[in-house]
Amino acid sequence: MIKRRFCLFLSILIIFFISYDNALLIENGSANDNINVAAITSTMSVSAKPSAILAAIPTIAISKTPIPNTPTPSTKTKEKIKEVKGLVELLKLDNTFVIDIKYATKDNFTKKIIYPSAKCIINKNTAAKLIKANNEFKKMGYRIKIYDAYRPHSAQKVLWDAASDKSFVADPKKGSNHNRGAAVDVTLVDKYGKEVRMPSGYDEFTKRAKLDYKDCPKEQINNRELLGRVMVKYGFKRIRSEWWHFDDSDAKKYQVLDISFSNF
Ligand SMILES: [Zn+2]
Repeated sequence: MIKRRFCLFLSILIIFFISYDNALLIENGSANDNINVAAITSTMSVSAKPSAILAAIPTIAISKTPIPNTPTPSTKTKEKIKEVKGLVELLKLDNTFVIDIKYATKDNFTKKIIYPSAKCIINKNTAAKLIKANNEFKKMGYRIKIYDAYRPHSAQKVLWDAASDKSFVADPKKGSNHNRGAAVDVTLVDKYGKEVRMPSGYDEFTKRAKLDYKDCPKEQINNRELLGRVMVKYGFKRIRSEWWHFDDSDAKKYQVLDISFSNF
């Protein structure tokens, strides 16, 4: 009888340790292949349930393992990266970015899923500039987190219709540099993936989003200006109304596109 109880206790103990181990693996990624948790989130197709994507996002913030500073070996292989009209998937070039495409979730001002994929698609030349900026941030212990990059022109119409304040969204008749894959909405995160403090949240359509807003802690102004300084150094332009938005200074060289995310 005692022997049976002991066996039962031992089994429960083993099951507990296996579950705990798996939980850690899910949270931190495997140490062997250096999986970037944010990369997993970003490559999830939205054909998966939206709730699954939303559920996965907090893993970016709670990681206890620093995100690897160098791209994993798989991104250094000579595997041909898919390119459509100059657009590529950023993580295929460099997977040390943190990707959190808000319009692929309900966590955006429309409260609706606009993109059918959470992949970060971008013009390849804009990506080259962004990689240089990210490399400089990494030396300082930060990295770039991307909220939005390429946005199909048809999605621009959806956002335009949904926006109550049109000064924050480009008129689809003209097209946005996001539609060219040559604009990015970004912030900075620390090496654990935690966002630095900025004067406003992303897509917060208030005066706090503006570059000249000063009625906030100095730390927030410093973070906003650090982001701006390095991005400008590597060929991006700021706009006065949104601290998170950066246009590739060569954006007008590229055409407005309406290529579906399913191509990547
Ligand atoms: Zn933007």
